[in-house]
Amino acid sequence: MHKNNESIISQFFDNMDWEGADYINNLLVNHNQDSPISSHEGYQEAVSGIEFKPVQSSPSACNDVLNEIENIILPGSINMGSPLFIGHMTTLLPNFTKSVSALITAMNQNIVKIETSKVLTHYERIVISQMHQLIFGESDEVYSNGIIDSELTFGAITAGGTTANVMALHIARNKAVNGIAEQGLNTLNNKSVVICSELAHYSIKKAMDVLGLGINNLVTIPVNDHQKINLKILKSTIAELRSNDVNIIALVGIAGSTECGSVDPLEEIGQIAQVNRIHFHVDAAWGGGFIFSDEHKHLLRGIELANSVTLDPHKQLYVPMGIGMLLFKDTRIADNVQHTAQYTIRKNSFDLGQRTHEGSRPANSLYLYTAIKLMGKEGYEELINTSLNRTLELKSIIDNSEEFEMISEPQLNILLYQYIPEKYRGVDTLTLDEAAICEINSFNENLQTKQFNSGKSFVSRTTLTIKSKSKYKLVCLRVVMANPMTKTKHLNQVIQHQKTIAMELETSVLFENYS
Ligand SMILES: *Cc1c(COP(=O)(O)O)cnc(C)c1O
Repeated sequence: MHKNNESIISQFFDNMDWEGADYINNLLVNHNQDSPISSHEGYQEAVSGIEFKPVQSSPSACNDVLNEIENIILPGSINMGSPLFIGHMTTLLPNFTKSVSALITAMNQNIVKIETSKVLTHYERIVISQMHQLIFGESDEVYSNGIIDSELTFGAITAGGTTANVMALHIARNKAVNGIAEQGLNTLNNKSVVICSELAHYSIKKAMDVLGLGINNLVTIPVNDHQKINLKILKSTIAELRSNDVNIIALVGIAGSTECGSVDPLEEIGQIAQVNRIHFHVDAAWGGGFIFSDEHKHLLRGIELANSVTLDPHKQLYVPMGIGMLLFKDTRIADNVQHTAQYTIRKNSFDLGQRTHEGSRPANSLYLYTAIKLMGKEGYEELINTSLNRTLELKSIIDNSEEFEMISEPQLNILLYQYIPEKYRGVDTLTLDEAAICEINSFNENLQTKQFNSGKSFVSRTTLTIKSKSKYKLVCLRVVMANPMTKTKHLNQVIQHQKTIAMELETSVLFENYS
């Protein structure tokens, strides 16, 4: 049936709620943390019935859309709230975020300029200052004066950790290479590099690419047995680069590596950066949340020496996706990437779009502001400490099992382990040859895939070299402990489920060998 334009306008743009609103609310009440992780099939099977269709000319009935959401979209998605989903950095959100989300969407503020956001710009500056104070510890006065001074930038809200890292290196590049913003790559007479450990997040590589520095000019330093940057090699590398007249744009330290949660010796790297006058960037996208825990914030010791710090509130600060943060020690450093336009983001104004990569963007900082206000520092401390304790609990379950072996000791709340097939149990992995390691690796790969496809429980997997375990790369099962509703019984359930799948795999391997 063809409807005229007027009916669309009255249907969707007057003050009434959409007719499907209540239905969707109800669906979400029933699709909750007790629901399965996903439908019991793999990606290919799940998407096979969902076909491409060209844009249709007439509107669909509301019920068609609701049916699709109920029967295909929700069951085929991943239930992030499930306490048995302990594999990734995305997890259960606190209940108030749903309402704040509705508010942010309904207000549709655009933080690029004050003419489209007004007090929301101010609130963003406040929440950035709050996080800045936790990391850099300036006095209350510095911040209360700072937020009313449009020249000062304590930090920027970004879409996530990746964009924060790109922005950090953008600032470091513009600071270190005169005229690069204006002249581009033609100004690069000397070779310019960025230094980080081999465990740096791949967004650092993206930044090298985007900024025209080139991925090959990312100098990666090996890690030691604790997965931390090797300081001796770092120092000798800097000396060598300097003696060859290479321009070192930035030194990146990791506070919580994505692979295994390791934290680089930030204090030592900070001192090395200071002595050599190199921009020191700390990627605390994962570990930054630990700053809220009085008991554990010592793990981030030295972070305050950084020139810039990436945080990712949409990970350990339990707010919806779309909010990363970059903080600056020097509140004038963002001038290195300032751009203005006459019609909108004006110089000497509070228009935040002057010193961010993104233009139009939502008032997502309100999620963090309300979360901090509703849960307080104590609330976040409880969340962080709970994840850490749960991680140690899982470690002891693994240590006490015959089938599994820890691969690296958890430093924060990420844990790597392996299932050891029966015939390799009790054998020191260091003595195993490549073929044997390969067999263990593919066993773990199969185990993880089967577990994902089952939709019943989930851990992720990664591949890395742990020198104390083997000179070959190891495929590890990877747990990211973040869901505060994951209790001891859930840990046991996940491990039991893995044992069941592994048993089936062991039998089918035996069967293959016989046939
Ligand atoms: C997750 C992560 C990032 C990237 O953050 P996104 O929000 O996914 O863009 C960068 N660095 C580290 C250490 C991370 O864990």
